[in-house]
Amino acid sequence: MESLDGGLLTLRRQRNGQLTAAVSRQGTWSWNAGTRYCADCLREQPGVFKVVWRSPWSFACLKHKTLLYESCSSCHQPVIEMRGRNADIFDASRCRAHIGPVDTTHQTLCRTPLSESPAQLPLDAEGAPLRAQSAIYQALNGSGAAEFLRILQAISTALRGAQNFDLVATLSGLELSELRGLFDEEKHVGVSAPTTAYAMAGLVGASFALDQLDEGQAGPLIRHLTFARPPASVPRGQGHGPGSPSELLHRWPQAPAQLRDKILRAHDQDFTNSQRILGCTSVSRATLLHHRPIPGEVRVRFLTVPAALWPAWCSRFDVGGPVDGSTLATALAHALRACGTAKVQRDPQAENALAGVLRPNMLGTSQQTTSLIRGLCELAHTLDEIDVPIDYLRRQSLAAHDFLPRAHWEALCESLSRDPGAARRHRNARRYLWHRLTALDVTRFPDEPQYRSSRAAAAEYTDFRTRMTIELQTALDSYARAYLQHQGLDEPVTWSPWASVALPWPGPEILDLDLSKLHALLGNGVLAHGVLARELGVSVRRVVRALDEAPPSDPRETKAVDWAPMFLSSVAH
Ligand SMILES: [Zn+2]
Ligand SMILES: [Zn+2]
Repeated sequence: MESLDGGLLTLRRQRNGQLTAAVSRQGTWSWNAGTRYCADCLREQPGVFKVVWRSPWSFACLKHKTLLYESCSSCHQPVIEMRGRNADIFDASRCRAHIGPVDTTHQTLCRTPLSESPAQLPLDAEGAPLRAQSAIYQALNGSGAAEFLRILQAISTALRGAQNFDLVATLSGLELSELRGLFDEEKHVGVSAPTTAYAMAGLVGASFALDQLDEGQAGPLIRHLTFARPPASVPRGQGHGPGSPSELLHRWPQAPAQLRDKILRAHDQDFTNSQRILGCTSVSRATLLHHRPIPGEVRVRFLTVPAALWPAWCSRFDVGGPVDGSTLATALAHALRACGTAKVQRDPQAENALAGVLRPNMLGTSQQTTSLIRGLCELAHTLDEIDVPIDYLRRQSLAAHDFLPRAHWEALCESLSRDPGAARRHRNARRYLWHRLTALDVTRFPDEPQYRSSRAAAAEYTDFRTRMTIELQTALDSYARAYLQHQGLDEPVTWSPWASVALPWPGPEILDLDLSKLHALLGNGVLAHGVLARELGVSVRRVVRALDEAPPSDPRETKAVDWAPMFLSSVAH
């Protein structure tokens, strides 16, 4: 039996960790005694009972493509296996059941040769029961056997608890009339395996078939099974309200993590938008196929997601609602950090916080909402798998006061043959670069007195941003890169993740507008964002993002600056 430990059964352990011969009730379904058998196998190898037949998880013979027997075909008593010392000379392939009168002292054994049992029910080679049996034996050779059996057991328990024998018959391909009545009422659903090989073949075959189904097809069945059972009584006040993820999972006792995630995804439509994001239940099929599932693992993305979401992603997640651009960028970043962080256990505080920032005008229609949440799940999965080259938390603590001093700004402007302008222009350049480096939302000001937020200052800054050129942006970036290196940070200035799989994002790509028209309008001195937006037929947010992403060119002579020595000389002062 030890060879089956951790696979088909779990043996009880003594205090000292030594295995006992008794089967643990904590493990998957198993018997303490008893065995099934294949009469054909016994004919071929007289007296050889396979070890796997001692498990309820063995219900079919793969070689002879039949159900196994669980009792003697003559006396119909369970097969008694040889255990311990046997005084009598004993033929293992004959039935050892005592068939004499109960009160007699003399034993009368049945002794019917088990190999002579009539042919057992043939099973379809391609049918669910034989495929399930084959998968179970295959799993035993790998490391995931216990998890696999737990999945089958949890689905079997749900099917049995729901008394849905129509579904068991449909999925397993076995006869409904035969299945009915094979399932005795269980006091505690799921504690023990069904007694007969037929019931086991039906139930496990059906569970296997359901587990193998595409999630689109399995989802409605899973949902049906959940609701076929009465709501579970669960402790209140722990995020366990009726219809909550944890309450629904209580109806699937002992489901392993992989199955729990699948169940919750099947119930996506039953959750609030916050729950869908926190539980990552709307995740698309493409995302599931592309990324390794990390069941139960929670990644907190404080370092990998900036305070304001990357502009390219703001654009993809922009459903066009009446919302301010920086409010949207902050809300989306919040949602991305929260994605998948409260999978099973509800976190009402996180739900409220998320519902508070992610307003309905950012979510659009229910279809847009679903593709937005799916996009967030995809992005979260990607971020959790790649090396994000920027530590955004550290970036936020960058002090504004020690970068781009006047001397550096003048050198930078000289390299572009441009006028450095007065203090105001210098201040806006620093603010621009500070936002680029920290990836904070533009309404935040560097922590310096001269950056007091006022309407005039905001208008000035917008004007500076609108007049940005690709040459100035490139020069500022190369300065910023030297600044970071001087700080000992080998990071790019800006960065944006890519999508591992292309989904139908609810919003457009960031430069999906008439860029040459935008540049031409700017060249003609049209600087008002509202006018630009109207001319291009897009929102102001999209104009602003395009201005930052692809500013026009200013064909004046430029030359590169080697910043490293200038940092050293400024330190020397
Ligand atoms: Zn056989
Ligand atoms: Zn017998």
